[in-house]
Amino acid sequence: MGRTSLFDNTNNFYSIPFETSKDEVECISCAQDLSESRYLYDFSMIKIKNLAPFLQVEGEDAIGVKNLLKGLKKLPPAVRDSLIQVKLVSEDEILAQCGMNAWGCEYGGTVWIPDSGPSWPTGIYHEAAHARTDQLQSEIIKHEVGEEYISYTSYALELKRKYNQEYKPRVRFYTAEGENTENFCESCSVKVVWPNEDGTRLIEKPGVVTETEKKEIAELWSNYYFTDIGPDSRKSNFEKKWEVVAGPVYGEGLGEKIVAGHNAAKWKDGTDAPKNGVIMAYGANNFWEDVATFVEPFAEKNHDFFKQYISPSSPQYDGRYEEKLKLLYEYGFITEMDYLDVMSYKEE
Ligand SMILES: [Zn+2]
Repeated sequence: MGRTSLFDNTNNFYSIPFETSKDEVECISCAQDLSESRYLYDFSMIKIKNLAPFLQVEGEDAIGVKNLLKGLKKLPPAVRDSLIQVKLVSEDEILAQCGMNAWGCEYGGTVWIPDSGPSWPTGIYHEAAHARTDQLQSEIIKHEVGEEYISYTSYALELKRKYNQEYKPRVRFYTAEGENTENFCESCSVKVVWPNEDGTRLIEKPGVVTETEKKEIAELWSNYYFTDIGPDSRKSNFEKKWEVVAGPVYGEGLGEKIVAGHNAAKWKDGTDAPKNGVIMAYGANNFWEDVATFVEPFAEKNHDFFKQYISPSSPQYDGRYEEKLKLLYEYGFITEMDYLDVMSYKEE
């Protein structure tokens, strides 16, 4: 049986039978681009399945799937389990889904992240922390008022966040006579309305929500309305406790809103240092970003980052940092091991 000898660039050689088909040989070192490697893709997908059996992953790029695996490995179980779906998509789709200057985004347990580019476990941890925050909120709502209300309210919340509104939208139906009603009627026209600044009046905001979104929320509202349940919005205990600790800092001292049209990336003076109990300017946009940025140092185990903010003898000390770390631990955003390790840096 004839054989072919193959040399690599360090003069190792292998010999394989003549009749070996090309498809049975994969050249690793000569393929700089592994994004289409079937082997890498299958290997990473199987590892992800073992780690998170119920997670749905969408994506074709092997490098993207490999990076996702790397990021998922770093998540505490509660955070990993809050992810329902991860969509690995192109830069163009990130722009369409998440808005300008966003690395990725999350809505109701579904996360969109780039399928190429460098591995960034910090970004995955950030988006997964959003999913955990959403999960805690839907748990409390489910407990209080049931499924129909959850679908309506989580969609309303998604729209509120997407369009950076202070309140969630409501749905109103108008009869042919122009009469305003909360009741769904087949022949009614639909309006999506938002409480104004002080929450006293419902107004229509032109250009806020697309036609598709309008139809979707109207349908969810109708389904909910006839189940005859519950009052308006509910906050998770986690959110309530966090807000007490954080205080009225959100939106304060921030610069231009360049991320997705509604979040600032820097403080007004162009810096990004921790301040007011948040660990970077981006965290001062709102409760969600505060939580999601707060877990970022844990992706790479940069626990000493917190030292100067939790040590009472340090000029940067602010009691809010330690209180927030406690809450993150209490609600499963960081592991006990990581929490204890961070606290070991504290100096009296
Ligand atoms: Zn975020």
